[in-house]
Amino acid sequence: MQPAKKPEPKLDFHHIRTLYKKGAVIFHEEDSRDNAYIIEHGAVEISTTRKGKQVPLVRLGAGEVFGETALLGAGKRTATAVALEDTEVFTIAPALLHDRIMHLDPLVGLLLTLLVNRYRQWRYRSPDQAATDSEAGGPPLTGEDMESIEKADTFLRDLNIQKEVALNELRLAQEITRAIDEDQFGPWLQPIVSLPERKLMGFEALVRWNHPKRGLVSPAEFIPVAERTHAVRDIDMSMLRSACKLIPQLQKAAGNIGRKLYVSVNLSGVYFGNDDIVADIAAIVKKTGVDPAHLVFEITETALMGDPAMAEKILLELKKVGGRIALDDFGTGYSSLSYLHRYAFDILKIDRTFVHDVGHNRKSVDIVRAIVALAKNFHLQIVGEGIESESEINLLSGIGCDYGQGYCFSRPLPPEKALEYIRDSIKKYG
Ligand code: C2E
Ligand code: CA
Ligand code: CA
Repeated sequence: MQPAKKPEPKLDFHHIRTLYKKGAVIFHEEDSRDNAYIIEHGAVEISTTRKGKQVPLVRLGAGEVFGETALLGAGKRTATAVALEDTEVFTIAPALLHDRIMHLDPLVGLLLTLLVNRYRQWRYRSPDQAATDSEAGGPPLTGEDMESIEKADTFLRDLNIQKEVALNELRLAQEITRAIDEDQFGPWLQPIVSLPERKLMGFEALVRWNHPKRGLVSPAEFIPVAERTHAVRDIDMSMLRSACKLIPQLQKAAGNIGRKLYVSVNLSGVYFGNDDIVADIAAIVKKTGVDPAHLVFEITETALMGDPAMAEKILLELKKVGGRIALDDFGTGYSSLSYLHRYAFDILKIDRTFVHDVGHNRKSVDIVRAIVALAKNFHLQIVGEGIESESEINLLSGIGCDYGQGYCFSRPLPPEKALEYIRDSIKKYG
């Protein structure tokens, strides 16, 4: 294995929120610019010196941004920011923002810079600013000024909506980091069975957030945010750890059935360009002492697309850890059949949109039949996902799909219910 690479930049959301007491100066005019700030709660006054006097420019409240010019580049502050009451702010360090933007898309970076610039221009034309200008003997507002203020208003309304979304994401990201420390993420297990006999083969571990206030939160809500902040890697590794600990209990509940029940864990695509992930996985498998023959790693196509050569290398190293590898959600992305050939997959999971289509569309049946035949050529096992009806079971099994997962067999279950499911299922189907 290659030496571990420098990890991706990671935001530490524990330290990003700061409380300023009433009257505290957040920054002074002439200070060098460091951070931008978003007010979580409280109020901040921005003021500047004009002709030796301190002139207030604007009073800002919760959700508003200040010091944003720091994001545009180094230089001196042209105003002073003071907390008018006890005020909590999110700190946005330009370096962190820069790293995140670089990980997104150059266009997003460009647009963001543009937005901050425009916002700043608008600030200088704000009515507050105009008032202080006229106090200071500045020119009155013209019709053109009014028109541009109206335009700026629409622009600001849109910007405000975006900002709400961004703030919610910051809050959620911070909560996720705390929830990882407090072990609030845990696996629910959804059975995977053979078709058409319905013998239990294993489970997919699906993360659930046991939120102290909100109860169970679905991964659809927090995985995308965790992926953007890179917290998903910690979630996935904690899921793997839990899965490894559950495997002996599942085996015990199954008794001597002559096959090894497996647990399938999801690996997000965002850390897949980094081969130190395999070292982490290997360490968890070793530490828990689990037989890796009980493990499957699920990876989606998008994980392979960024750096295909690196992905190939990681998959080969992952194979050496001993688990099997599944290509997840097949049929949603590029669905390139060449992936089946190039990478060391053992299992192909056909996405539920495809499975659903099979029941309604003759053409889909032919496509899935062709995929199944080709995958079998590469000795892959096929799992149909999201099977909801008996007719879908019959259709899929009829075209050679070996295994199935879906509400028709069982919804995802908390671990203690999964143990019950094992006993019942083995009694019924062997
Ligand atoms: P996925 O990997 O494709 O997981 C299958 C999803 O389909 C699960 O949703 C499952 O509850 C749902 N499902 C299963 N059978 C049926 C069915 O018959 N009908 C319908 N309509 N849905 C069915 P869930 O648990 O909400 O997870 C959503 C996605 O979140 C997962 O899709 C996966 O992409 C992601 N995810 C879940 N757990 C993890 C995790 O531990 N790590 C990472 N990185 N991603 C995870
Ligand atoms: Ca999956
Ligand atoms: Ca899937």
